[in-house]
Order: sequence, then structure tokens, then C-alpha cells
Amino acid sequence: MRLVGDVKCYHCGHVSGQIEATREEGLEVQSFKPRDGYKGKKPAAGEKLRCERCTGPVFLEDLREAPLEPLAIDLAAARKLRRPKRGKAA
Ligand SMILES: [Zn+2]
Repeated sequence: MRLVGDVKCYHCGHVSGQIEATREEGLEVQSFKPRDGYKGKKPAAGEKLRCERCTGPVFLEDLREAPLEPLAIDLAAARKLRRPKRGKAA
């Protein structure tokens, strides 16, 4: 199960992005996903994550199960499965 949480600033409340990982991977700075339009510095391994807007300290808020990624569907295979068989009356 993947978990996701918002990276929120203690000082100004700004959400710089999210951290998404499994419990086994650990919720670490390397799994930081900046929000759209993020203008801050992406932290390197071992660095602390800071607020994009005011460089204040951040915390992880609203830790929850990550939404499932959309399934990749092979349309050609799906059409073959749906095609009715001819010559057999129901
Ligand atoms: Zn801030």
C-alpha cells in the first residue's frame, strides 16, 4: 500500500508538495513530489525539506492511502475478448 501526505509549512501553512512512498521504502525526502508550479529547491539526499515560500520547517499532514494509478489497458486484447463469436445462436 502506497501512502501519500502533504508537505506543509509550520510557519505559513503553504503546501509545497507531497511525499509518496510505501512504509517499507520510508517516507523520505527522496520521495518528495513538488506541487505543480513548484519554484523551490528540490532537496538532495540528506538535506532537509523546507517550505518553498518562506523556507520554514515543514511537516507531513493528512497521511493517507495513495490513489490507485490508472490501469494500462491493451485495447487490442480487450476487443478480442469482447468480440462475439459468430455462428453460435444464443
Ligand atoms: Zn512557509
